[in-house]
Amino acid sequence: MSRLNIGCHLSVAGGYLHMGQEALSIHANTFQFFTRNPRGGKSKEIVPGDIEGLNELLKENEFAPIVAHAPYTLNACSADPHVREFALMVMADDLNIMERLPGALYNFHPGSHVGQGIEMAIDLIADALNKTLTPDLSTTVLLETMSGKGSEVGSHFEEIRDIISRVELTEKLGVCMDSCHLYSAGYDIVNDLDGVLTQFDQIVGLDRLKAFHLNDSKMPFDSRKDRHEKIGEGTIGTEAIVRIINHPALKHLPFNLETPNEIPGYAAEIKLLQEAFQG
Ligand code: FE
Ligand code: FE
Ligand code: ZN
Repeated sequence: MSRLNIGCHLSVAGGYLHMGQEALSIHANTFQFFTRNPRGGKSKEIVPGDIEGLNELLKENEFAPIVAHAPYTLNACSADPHVREFALMVMADDLNIMERLPGALYNFHPGSHVGQGIEMAIDLIADALNKTLTPDLSTTVLLETMSGKGSEVGSHFEEIRDIISRVELTEKLGVCMDSCHLYSAGYDIVNDLDGVLTQFDQIVGLDRLKAFHLNDSKMPFDSRKDRHEKIGEGTIGTEAIVRIINHPALKHLPFNLETPNEIPGYAAEIKLLQEAFQG
């Protein structure tokens, strides 16, 4: 009998240790947070001892790996060199902070190519990773699978594979799946989860998969739109989400909710999923 690793998105505004306490209060054993204002901007001032306090809490309570999420405006494949430069700076700064949270994961959106074309974008993203990753890094950097809205990169497993194949320190790289994004991108996790995972395994490799975002979707299958919905209130539905957490190839992963909820809503979804987990 294994346990479910489940948590949700929390705010770093009250500090690092506070996120750990908040997670415990809703019976989560992982969580995700934005390293800074999701629109970019400065990272939060770190109070001495705060991160160390969180580390202790995580260890004492045997948390699964936690996930830091890069700002979603970060665009490593922008056509604008200043935007690319900013992405490099933010990633380096975030990874520097992450070194104080050993074993955590750092998730980012590959970016949007805005007219430059997918090939150029893949090169730029790989280039940014080659400039950022170092051999002694303790963090695993995750590429998130995207919905494909606009000119978003990473909505096809082949794009994720191509980015990884152009990075030198690939042992520092992993993938985070997002159920809302997969479904919007045309991967039918409702009717053919096995088929989607087989495809991922053949193209990227399931050993790369390190985390999962659990979201229902407001949008229909293959819509190429990114609108998260509460679990059971969207087009994916509770049954399909319960199959995800119980799938033998997935059930060991840290699952984080990014549903439109405040803490009580997250607590209810965590409880629902814990009760639906078969171990
Ligand atoms: Fe994301
Ligand atoms: Fe996500
Ligand atoms: Zn999303």
